[in-house]
Amino acid sequence: MGILDGLEALGLGKLKSIDTIYEEEQHKSTQEETPQAPPKKEEKDFLMEKEFECPVCQGKFRQRLARTTLKCIRHDRDLRPVYEGIDAVKYDVIFCPDCGYAVLSRFFAPLAPTHRKLLNEGIRKNFKPQSRNLPETISYEDAALRYKMALANAVVKLSKNSEKAYICLKAAWLYRGMREDAIAKGETDKDAIKAMAETEKEYLITAADGFIKARAGETPPYAGMNSTTLDYVIAAIYLETDTNLKDGVKLLQDVITSRTATPQNKEKARELLAEIKKKMGIE
Ligand SMILES: [Zn+2]
Repeated sequence: MGILDGLEALGLGKLKSIDTIYEEEQHKSTQEETPQAPPKKEEKDFLMEKEFECPVCQGKFRQRLARTTLKCIRHDRDLRPVYEGIDAVKYDVIFCPDCGYAVLSRFFAPLAPTHRKLLNEGIRKNFKPQSRNLPETISYEDAALRYKMALANAVVKLSKNSEKAYICLKAAWLYRGMREDAIAKGETDKDAIKAMAETEKEYLITAADGFIKARAGETPPYAGMNSTTLDYVIAAIYLETDTNLKDGVKLLQDVITSRTATPQNKEKARELLAEIKKKMGIE
């Protein structure tokens, strides 16, 4: 599939290149209360609402974002954070329903007039305005469309390679979350699971390509990452996708011998290097 497939529905086919209310509380009797387990938190309990002013059309819109107080359970090898109760990646694209401007929260900022002009011409002109209704939560499919819009916007406004690559990395994490969620819910359609894994891989490979270009043509930070972190992430993607393993080894050796990398960074690089060598059969 093409990474931007699916935007036709938004008029952009040409782009392609609350808390819970406990009503039962009313029925409290004077009888001794038996202790109860606290109610299980749902995805909507980890979200907050925020208003944004669109830097392209100047319209105001509201959106739900993941709370900033989430509990991180673990990080995947490629640094994807996994939180308790919510896949925060689903909520990281800020999306204007009126003009189609979409951007990762990290990159949400005022735009230069030249960028606004490019987006007016390349996105807004053909975009079909979407409903302003705020659903309690969004589906993985809706989130995937938002990532495609963020990538399309980044391409149109000629964003840095590091920004485009970072969008692809997070889109890959979204598809990983989608697959994990489907498996956890007992999805039996093997083709559907396989398609999610393939899309994840496609985004990961595209992300690594972009990060390599960013490494050669930009100065750090790269989408918030220093050179050491960037090299580590690229190598982790190579291992995850079983591509360019030799290049991964070189990148990690550079981290290990770097004068600026911290001892923790070097230790993580050594662990990843051991995994890559194992995969290559050169333990
Ligand atoms: Zn807008």
